[in-house]
Amino acid sequence: MTMTAPEAPLPDKEEEFGRWYDEILKRTELVDARYGVKGFIVYRPNAMRMVKRIYEMFEEELERTGHMPVLFPVVIPYSYFKMESEHIKGFEKQVYMVGEAGGEELEERLVLRPTSETAFYPMLSLWMHSHTDLPMKLYQGVEVYRYETKATRPLLRARGFLWIETHDAFARKEDAERQIEEDLGIARRVYDELALAFLVIEREPYDKFPGAENSYAYDALLPNRHVLQIATTHYLGQNFSRAFDVTFLDEHGGHEHPYTTCLGVGVSRTLAAMVITHGDRYGLVLPFGFSVHDVVIVPIPYHDVEGEVDEKSKRVEEILRAAGFDVLLDDSDRTPGDKYYRWEMLGVPVRIEVGRMEVRGGYVTLFRRDTRGREKVPDDKLVERLEELEREISRNLRRKAWERLEGSIVTARNRDELVELARLGKIIRASFCGRKECADEIKDATGYEIRGRRVDVDEEPDERCAWCGAPAKRVVYLAKAY
Ligand SMILES: [Zn+2]
Repeated sequence: MTMTAPEAPLPDKEEEFGRWYDEILKRTELVDARYGVKGFIVYRPNAMRMVKRIYEMFEEELERTGHMPVLFPVVIPYSYFKMESEHIKGFEKQVYMVGEAGGEELEERLVLRPTSETAFYPMLSLWMHSHTDLPMKLYQGVEVYRYETKATRPLLRARGFLWIETHDAFARKEDAERQIEEDLGIARRVYDELALAFLVIEREPYDKFPGAENSYAYDALLPNRHVLQIATTHYLGQNFSRAFDVTFLDEHGGHEHPYTTCLGVGVSRTLAAMVITHGDRYGLVLPFGFSVHDVVIVPIPYHDVEGEVDEKSKRVEEILRAAGFDVLLDDSDRTPGDKYYRWEMLGVPVRIEVGRMEVRGGYVTLFRRDTRGREKVPDDKLVERLEELEREISRNLRRKAWERLEGSIVTARNRDELVELARLGKIIRASFCGRKECADEIKDATGYEIRGRRVDVDEEPDERCAWCGAPAKRVVYLAKAY
């Protein structure tokens, strides 16, 4: 019986990231970009367990922190959309607009939501009466639409993408500010469980969300040395509540505008980050809970022991199912080699092989996808070993992701070093004067963007801006952004 892989391994992820990414999406059948509208994709069954699990994890965290689910229409009246002036300036060129229905021009054009502040706030003003209604913390998980003019790429940059948004309102400024901390904690806990590494960054003032006072973002690292923003949280102050005239009666009977915040999680991008961060030449690598199955049993029948192999495979399946594992016994007609290839490509964390040796020896051969290592596990230790592996695989993936991220950060002390490190594709740490002109010059010279200040560490800048020599205000991180 041949055991050769039906197809050659994928290209090298570090050397040929673009080819690797296109090829892994194709072979894993996660999504299909051949749908008839450019920039829109179809999510196929192999992607949906990941999508659902990412949603579930965020939703669990959100509900645990007092958020309630809602579901708003996809269309926003243009009159709502234009109410916050900075917001419309930032989004106007990116929106899809519905102008016609039933063959007639609509009286008012409708915006397909690019984000839902301007949908939520008119309703908040109807729902909010007194300070006892606050805090009001709402979320929805939906698809949003943005007319991207840059080249689109499945999951990374699309014109429709899955996300979760919260819209929170508070009576007091301090409570809204505390919500930003809570949002950062929610994202951190989920991304830790997804074994992703990330920088938590406060964006520069000229680079914040349209209409926000402060913006914070999670940046993950791609192997092509670009960073990918996977989630953001914004402190909106009273900007939106004033623009939409949302008020509540305070304890003294006065009308006040609430302070508001919003968190946006790019679910499509989070999925991309998992594929890209953990994947290798043999396909997806995933922690338990994300692939189509967690454990797959592959019987390797030989003539003299076929019945015994069959019987043992079924017994192992029953034991693992009873122990609560998501297990599949692959007794299809494919060859074992074909099965290995397929389940490795889909990132199934553990494969169990049952053949002649295993039947005779009272053990199984266990293959773990993250290290591609094999080990013999006695039949009576299997459940215990799988429980251990569930934790071990997550830990291993998380450690590797962080090592890669931290290993690519290098400090530049002056202009020459900055140019050189940008040429090498590093994430650059540098002291910065805070001026937009300086950031623009750096972008022109190197293609690098100032992502902002890290909020998860305290850092003292040098005296001078690494680029222009003016007094430095803070330490910032620079990278090419996807
Ligand atoms: Zn400067």
